[in-house]
Amino acid sequence: MKINLIRKPILFAIHDDEAVSINSINNNNRYLIYTCDECNEVLIPRIGKAKNKDGTTRLSSFAHKSGNESCSGGEGIIHKYATMLIQEKKYIYSPKRNGKKKKIEFSKVYRKKQNLRIGNSDFECDAKCISSVGEFFIEIYFSNPCVEEKIDYYNDNNLLSVDIDIRKIKDVDVSDIDDYILEKSPRKWIYNPDKSKIEAKIKPPIGNGESKWLQYIAGGVLAVITAIEVGSHVKEWWSARNKDEN
Ligand SMILES: [Zn+2]
Repeated sequence: MKINLIRKPILFAIHDDEAVSINSINNNNRYLIYTCDECNEVLIPRIGKAKNKDGTTRLSSFAHKSGNESCSGGEGIIHKYATMLIQEKKYIYSPKRNGKKKKIEFSKVYRKKQNLRIGNSDFECDAKCISSVGEFFIEIYFSNPCVEEKIDYYNDNNLLSVDIDIRKIKDVDVSDIDDYILEKSPRKWIYNPDKSKIEAKIKPPIGNGESKWLQYIAGGVLAVITAIEVGSHVKEWWSARNKDEN
């Protein structure tokens, strides 16, 4: 049996009840209090260019102040960090379609317990977002996949939902963690009635100040596009009809 002796670094810690990544630690905040999500002990950020005994550069990571090496820092915090990041950044990238992905922006992201219920079910999502086409549910796959009953509920009730697979996050370079969660990790639609239509419809949320004007302009542009589309359909229909007659 092969035993993996390379310890995975602890990349996340709790500060002020929220998850922080080692990537956000700098000289200004490195002396704040950080604790371990798993064992509640104090964690010390190790940053900079410290060397391991074998001369290789030591990764930036958290270490237990007590020297406890048996605790891995827990897995729940990775989940917590991912949802917190989405709430803070208010966007994710869609699954790839024809090799392309689209930035989906949200006007609001809920991730606190009381707001996570999915429809009328007893299921909870990891993050509930408000997009320009309505509610948008996010499932984060780190240690456990989304249960089948929940996937069925999303589908049976036509709820726009996406699954983000961050199982390989510990293999990602520390500085790429945020991009990995928001954009680069594998992801797939759980339910999306018509991918092309939804992706085309999802627009950045409009800020409060300019909202009225932009909505009018957007409404006008949409009307023109619709008119052109309808026009081209009529044209197609007309030429098809003439063809049939010929
Ligand atoms: Zn611990």
